[in-house]
Amino acid sequence: MKVPLLDLKEQNEALRPEVEAALGRVLDANAFILGDEVAAFEKELAEYCDAAYTIGCASGSDALVLAMMALDIGPGDEVITTPYSFFATVSAITRVGATPVFVDIDAVDMNLDVSLIEAKITERTKAIEPVHLFGQCADMTALQNIAAKHGLRLVEDAAQAIGSEENGRRAGSIGDIGCFSFYPSKNLGGMGDGGILTTNDEQIASRLKALRVHGAEKRYHHRWIGLNSRLDGFQGAILRVKLPHLDGWTAHRRDNAERYRQLFSERQLSELVTVPTELEGRKHIYNQFVIRVRNRRDELKAFLAEKGIGTDIYYPIPLHLQECFAYLGYKKGDMPESEKAAADTLALPIYPELSADKLEYVVDSIAEFFAR
Ligand SMILES: *Cc1c(COP(=O)(O)O)cnc(C)c1O
Repeated sequence: MKVPLLDLKEQNEALRPEVEAALGRVLDANAFILGDEVAAFEKELAEYCDAAYTIGCASGSDALVLAMMALDIGPGDEVITTPYSFFATVSAITRVGATPVFVDIDAVDMNLDVSLIEAKITERTKAIEPVHLFGQCADMTALQNIAAKHGLRLVEDAAQAIGSEENGRRAGSIGDIGCFSFYPSKNLGGMGDGGILTTNDEQIASRLKALRVHGAEKRYHHRWIGLNSRLDGFQGAILRVKLPHLDGWTAHRRDNAERYRQLFSERQLSELVTVPTELEGRKHIYNQFVIRVRNRRDELKAFLAEKGIGTDIYYPIPLHLQECFAYLGYKKGDMPESEKAAADTLALPIYPELSADKLEYVVDSIAEFFAR
């Protein structure tokens, strides 16, 4: 049996007629950059994310950079964030000339440990940038309280968290700005690069709208120095086809997670691996289902590969230890929980179309590994 980490074929084949029709509409209109399909998608996504405004852009990475620019974050400013995330979370801060200040993660949900934040706030701190890692929201209630107390901005890196919730509030609708990615492996994946920003602040929204077109509010009148970062018409049209299916896909991912938990416990594997839990008041959308394997993670990964099972490590090197960030002066041991996670996490297949027998095969194979 072959079980890839992610299989896009089934999902995309099922939608092929609708996708082709959507591509045809863009071709008919010759609206390749932004245009009506993107505008319609922005509206539909605003509703989905419970945000007043949405601004499509070229990628999730760009969304994060645009967010920093829109909040006037630049040289001399500090932004508090997590070292246990995808690279773009932190490069967005350095791209605008600001300094990332790392705070370690919580051992359970692997999101920012909110109890460590206040000690890192200085007079230069401008914002906190939490990541809703793997599809579970960070503790936004606590983060909002800290941000309000210290007059800080909140930028949500919601690239992995479309539709996830904290206390009934959707990811991206809670902070000052939310940033999403439509990279094909995200829960709502395009057929190319794409991203979007969400905000409830009209002024921020209009600034973002300008920043994505070189900072021009009116064509050829550049109020700011922005980026060239727009969502293209084909992506907008494709994402409109996919969005109505998203809740169904999320439900399948959540069912798969529940089934994994059941099987791990039935097979008495709970002592050997830690499975992700959904915290009180959060709605996890399982962009990734990441287990933790003490000591033997790499061995297990190799064993599963031999069994035809795809897994991956998110993330093998925490960002405070990346070569390009050496100038920030962090060293091994500074972020113990992040470093521990980098050594013991393993993402298992969780995609919506994953069949029950394939899922069971994954758990059986893990049981076989530990029984050897
Ligand atoms: C995917 C991702 C991004 C970047 O999105 P791209 O569209 O690939 O640029 C940023 N942050 C996190 C946490 C991500 O998972």
